[in-house]
Amino acid sequence: MPIRSFTHIFLLLLVVACATNPVTGRKQLMLISEKQSIVASRDAYVKLMEPLEEEGKINTDPEVEKRINLITAKLIAQALKYRPETESWDWRVKIIDDPKTVNAFCMAGGKMAIYTGLIQQLDATDDELAQVMGHEIAHALSAHTAERMSIAMATSLAVTGFALTQDQPGVALAGASLAAALAIQLPNSRRSESEADVIGIELAARAGYDPHAAVSLWEKMAKVSGNDSKFDFLSTHPAPAKRMEVLGQLIPEMMPYYEEKGDRPLYPLKSD
Ligand SMILES: [Zn+2]
Repeated sequence: MPIRSFTHIFLLLLVVACATNPVTGRKQLMLISEKQSIVASRDAYVKLMEPLEEEGKINTDPEVEKRINLITAKLIAQALKYRPETESWDWRVKIIDDPKTVNAFCMAGGKMAIYTGLIQQLDATDDELAQVMGHEIAHALSAHTAERMSIAMATSLAVTGFALTQDQPGVALAGASLAAALAIQLPNSRRSESEADVIGIELAARAGYDPHAAVSLWEKMAKVSGNDSKFDFLSTHPAPAKRMEVLGQLIPEMMPYYEEKGDRPLYPLKSD
């Protein structure tokens, strides 16, 4: 492909690729559609779970399962109020029996997992587990998987595009401004984390879980961070103290949701 048209196509791609976060309204770089990221995640989830199932690493302790399913079902019921179209997602959660790993995730399309290490090492209460899962569900609602995939794609494309255009000053300029445009998008994961924190604590409060647990969860998380923790709260490290402060400030605003009377709706989770 001629260099010039490569650049044109790439620039066009960038122009059309900005989407708006479906929950917060923030502009996101989207080279991959949410649908594509859901398909990719479905595949990744199966590839991750199949060997674990064969090794008997999927937790079947009925007590733990009942607990996690109840928390998750209440959170999903609230998530559907933010984005009703996600009712068609194949929401599900599995508990991975791995006491060493402090982690949890929710992929695009609602495929979730929580590791027994997180439950055990933090000695987490239901309220704290709801904060964890609420945060992870918030990532999925905000299409953060598609965003991360897009950033990764754009980064490699920009590097390729820039290298190809070095010989032609005019075109090289286009490549440089492209790289600059991308630089704005790149420190995104930290912003995504804050976004997920804010949506997560609200989801949990609306589902009937105490917002104070967002802070106590963090205190516990900080204590185990010396261990082999892979939890995404820690991997992207906005300073923990700052994070607890921001979450703490949100508590008064969240209390009315938490204190609402009556039973909270449950999403009918599939168990297979
Ligand atoms: Zn996160």
